[in-house]
Amino acid sequence: MLRRLLMRRAYNAGQWDTSRHHADKLLQKSSERTLARSVIVRSYWNESRFQDVIDCTTDWHDELSQSYRNQSIERLKTNGGTKRLTLMKQEKLQRLRDQQPEPITPIHWSNEELTENFSQEGERVWFRYPEGYVFWDMPTGYDLALTHPALLCLTAEVLLSPWVPSSKAKTLHERETGNRCSLSFSAGTDSTAAAAVMLESTLLGYHKRSFESMLDHRNAERLIDHLNSTGDREVLSISSNHELIRTNHGKPVGFSTDFACAAHLLLLADHFDLGAIGVGMPIDNTYLWKGRKFRTFQETHYYKYWTKRFTQAGLDLLFPIASISEAGALMVVKQTPWLEHLNSCMRGDGVNGCGRCWKCFHKNGPLGRPFDITAPEIQTYLNKRPIPTATHALWALQIMGHENQLTDLSHLFEGDYNWWTMAYPPGFDLLQDRWRLSIETMILSILPTMPKPYNLDNLNHFDED
Ligand SMILES: [Zn+2]
Repeated sequence: MLRRLLMRRAYNAGQWDTSRHHADKLLQKSSERTLARSVIVRSYWNESRFQDVIDCTTDWHDELSQSYRNQSIERLKTNGGTKRLTLMKQEKLQRLRDQQPEPITPIHWSNEELTENFSQEGERVWFRYPEGYVFWDMPTGYDLALTHPALLCLTAEVLLSPWVPSSKAKTLHERETGNRCSLSFSAGTDSTAAAAVMLESTLLGYHKRSFESMLDHRNAERLIDHLNSTGDREVLSISSNHELIRTNHGKPVGFSTDFACAAHLLLLADHFDLGAIGVGMPIDNTYLWKGRKFRTFQETHYYKYWTKRFTQAGLDLLFPIASISEAGALMVVKQTPWLEHLNSCMRGDGVNGCGRCWKCFHKNGPLGRPFDITAPEIQTYLNKRPIPTATHALWALQIMGHENQLTDLSHLFEGDYNWWTMAYPPGFDLLQDRWRLSIETMILSILPTMPKPYNLDNLNHFDED
């Protein structure tokens, strides 16, 4: 019985080797054989070790083993295709980089003086990085020369630090702080909730990908137009191609680091007298590690390091929704007049969600919008172990009556996840004094507080160390 428990625990924690080790021992017991086989087959499957699935199921004729065996054979056939696609994708990204514009006056990359990698031509700000150039199109009247070096150094760091150690620069001259608050705004649910709980004077900075891609930004632009035309918030859209930087390192188009989403606001901080940049990170990414295990966020190196670096650039790094979860963010946006203009799905028709992606399941579903639980992408995510954004997914499945989707995790539905939509008061302590009162008051006017003792404080769904 103990071995069975250890096997299950290891499996649920995603410790595939350990779970298989226990399962191997249990195979000898006829009463445990079915369960042990299922653990071996599914753990190989979860690791995408399709050949191992096929090898171990040669003589296992039960239904589950044969089903995974057949699926693995299919996967191996298509995986050959996937590899070619990856190469095709890389070539496509290379072509995309080759098509990008370059400044009239070239810049030579400087490893020592990061500020020398910036220049301005008209409204366009250029940034030279080791492999090429990226740009931002700034509002009329912007002057790079009036932008503090500490801001330029931090911009370089958020864009390059994973690959260029020298970008982790010491700031020699600290910038004095400004007066206005801003938010790195993606127009998704979390950042819309953040915008809703911050002061009306907050500048929302939207990073607009300057090149064509698979993602559909019409939903985002619809909300931005609404906010600007009603005057509810000021949203500034800045076109840039800096998401291409990491494609030089074998990664898909996207932000180099978590704070690259704020690069445009860093460059604009002196132009708009900014004193704070907010990011819409909910509990799922702050007090929870990977959305499933509690950590004391303010004690993490991540929090300490980045808040210090922003402070040196005269900016409060603000986590306006660190006290609420993704579910709390949904409850907040539900209370705003913006809800009908908001849709996190990036694959819909520009107005509605596609109903078939993970965002449609966990963001649109709880808002009462239609989705298909059997859609392949949703099923793929639900079948990953540990399940992605676990707490939020468990809550969403529970409130929508889909607990039966996770038969192997039924023990995680023993409690009730109502608390997940409520405010977690320790999160308010992260807010700097000058912004705290307004944000805290706004959140508490919408959401109840979590009952004590906080369930969150002991959260560790998969018994991870
Ligand atoms: Zn969708």
